[in-house]
Amino acid sequence: MTQANAPHKRDRVTDTRLSDTAHWIFDLDNTLYSAGANFFAQIDVKMTEFISRYLSLQHDEARRLQKQYLVEYGTSLSGLMAVNGMDPAEFLDYVHDVDLSMLKPNPQLRAAISALPGQRLIYTNGSKGHAKNVAGHLELFDLFHGSFGIEDGGYIPKPKPKPYGIFNQQFGVKPQQAIFFEDNLRNLKVPHDQGMITVLVTSDEDWSHEPEDVRPSGAANITDPAYDHIDVITSDLGLWLTERIRPLLNY
Ligand SMILES: [Mg+2]
Repeated sequence: MTQANAPHKRDRVTDTRLSDTAHWIFDLDNTLYSAGANFFAQIDVKMTEFISRYLSLQHDEARRLQKQYLVEYGTSLSGLMAVNGMDPAEFLDYVHDVDLSMLKPNPQLRAAISALPGQRLIYTNGSKGHAKNVAGHLELFDLFHGSFGIEDGGYIPKPKPKPYGIFNQQFGVKPQQAIFFEDNLRNLKVPHDQGMITVLVTSDEDWSHEPEDVRPSGAANITDPAYDHIDVITSDLGLWLTERIRPLLNY
């Protein structure tokens, strides 16, 4: 395997810090399954449909607004609520009603997560029901002690600081003993500033629903200062956990 295709592009974490980890926090979409599965594309398309209908906009106009809100408000939903006064429930039900069949359970990831000592949590900008559906389909949901959806943070999304505080308080998370896994670069800034270990899960696929500067595909240019708050970069979460954590914890 060439260096360019190596699954782990950065690992700055010490064994001591990893051994001290008591809270394992995972984003859901494009983190617990690979962005290469292109699953999130369905949700992305449904968001455009909903916005087009809700605001009576042509497809391209709805699409542009969807992405503009994603950049400005953290999620398209937050922009729709703040600017257009939209009720979130109908939107969430609509966009999360997707075909799960393309997502395949990853036995290596399940084995690795099930062996993590301490508290295992999901933190998603999607709804709590979405977390249960998707993680359940991936045969991972039963491994987690709790999940936190957009409604739990008062519909304020990552990367805004406030919901991270609500999350930590709800689950008694001590940031100095926590690790945060995410595919979104900017969503790891607050966890880093709080003292958590940050792991960026990348995909070598070119496709992403996020703007390029938020979620650079494949982390091709990791010397960029935009990555300074990232401790670990891997394109294979199950493999990293297996290789890095297992020997350390002697299981
Ligand atoms: Mg994600």
